[in-house]
Amino acid sequence: KSGFVAIVGRPNVGKSTFLNRVIGQKIAIMSNTAQTTRNKIQGIYTTDDAQIVFIDTPGVHKPKTQLGDYMVKSALSALNEVDAVLFMINAAEKRGAGDNFIIDRLKGIKAPVYLVINKIDQIQPDDLLTVMDQYKQALPWKAVYPISALEGNNVNEFLGDLVDQMPNGP
Ligand code: GDP
Ligand code: MG
Repeated sequence: KSGFVAIVGRPNVGKSTFLNRVIGQKIAIMSNTAQTTRNKIQGIYTTDDAQIVFIDTPGVHKPKTQLGDYMVKSALSALNEVDAVLFMINAAEKRGAGDNFIIDRLKGIKAPVYLVINKIDQIQPDDLLTVMDQYKQALPWKAVYPISALEGNNVNEFLGDLVDQMPNGP
């Protein structure tokens, strides 16, 4: 199995924490050392039988920046070139403009989009249902995963499912 996965989400939802946990000691490329025109490689998760390249897509999660047409189109085409997109939210915060900005840009992309509800260690089980309610109609999610990137809850289960969904390859 091998594939490319983009992680999007507004600042501070836990994208870097998630990647650090997933890639751990196996970090091959850090965020600032490799850059392509459109995508920043954040790290490569490698096991004996799988490889997932996690990428950042500039222009998708900077709602406070005035984005040129070109940036937005570039980011969108990058999202169409990956095998899956992870949209990460903070379970402890209400859905806001920053989340909606990204959701709008994920509408109509070809890749399956996973809703990753992070920081579940900070909420009560009832609150998780409320969060899910806020998002369930937003996009046709491939799947929804509540996780704690910090404490590790459900991360390995999610990763296992994600690997299964990657195309067969070297
Ligand atoms: P990013 O901007 O999306 O990359 O977010 P970061 O990974 O930098 O995380 C932002 C802050 O949230 C940091 O202080 C993290 O320690 C914290 N954080 C990330 N994931 C979790 C989590 O699952 N639970 C809790 N309680 N805090 C988290
Ligand atoms: Mg980060």
